[in-house]
Amino acid sequence: MPTKPKLGQNFLRDAQAVERIVAGLGDLSGRTVVEIGPGEGAITGALVARAKHVVAVELDHDLALRLRVKFPAEKVTVVEHDVLSFDIAAARAEHATQGERLSLVGNLPYYITSPILFKLAASHAVLDLAVLMVQREVADRITAQPGSHDYSVLSVTTQVYGPVARMFTLPPEAFLPPPDVHSTVFRWRFAPRFAELEIQEVPFLRFVRMAFAQKRKTLSNNLRAAGYAPAHITAALEQAGVPPQARAEALTIDSFAMLSKLLAESDVAAPSAS
Ligand code: SAM
Repeated sequence: MPTKPKLGQNFLRDAQAVERIVAGLGDLSGRTVVEIGPGEGAITGALVARAKHVVAVELDHDLALRLRVKFPAEKVTVVEHDVLSFDIAAARAEHATQGERLSLVGNLPYYITSPILFKLAASHAVLDLAVLMVQREVADRITAQPGSHDYSVLSVTTQVYGPVARMFTLPPEAFLPPPDVHSTVFRWRFAPRFAELEIQEVPFLRFVRMAFAQKRKTLSNNLRAAGYAPAHITAALEQAGVPPQARAEALTIDSFAMLSKLLAESDVAAPSAS
């Protein structure tokens, strides 16, 4: 069957990589796993042998049909659906045992990587652990630490939902057809830090986007451009122990949290930037 490049169909052909991806999810006995974009079922096949149940979300009608033939319905529920509008919480209610949080795996369709990551972050309450394959450069940004050139909005907005760790990288030849890029697998454990840092999810994420708005500008200038009063910025930076000329890419998540709280508490109305 011809592949559909528009749907990011680059099928994994490396059996060892499949084993490493599934091993990254840990002990799956008794667990329910959601797979994003199962394609021809390379990863699904390895999951079936280990997990209690697999919910495989595939947009492509022909592939969904083939998956239903290939795997027994009592082990694999094939959902023909766009993952971006797929109801993860409903899948958990239907398939998982009481109180179980879902494992998640996917060699992602790269054209919608960021929307998928944001969707997963928003679904953190029902998720336990994800092992995901993305374009190498995206994994660089997701796993980057403060001070690194790759540290960005994506680093902070994924890591605030829980620790991320790179697993391994594959060359284009590991796929059929080979993509133009290298691919990296990373692990993401969902353990959001909002309560511990005493911050609220939505305002914090908005603050981080403002802080990184223009990467070449200092943090202070980005916050001014967002509408905060210069005197309050200076005071907040000093109180948080952040140098006045610092750029957003130097700040830890803890520092972002402290600054966002200090500025929210300042007597100037926080900007309503979207
Ligand atoms: N997991 C398979 C593998 O590793 O060989 C296939 C991975 S392939 C990179 C991405 C898969 O995601 C394709 O099967 C594609 O049809 C599917 N896909 C693309 N867009 C999707 C969407 N919006 N929702 C669900 N699946 C999608």
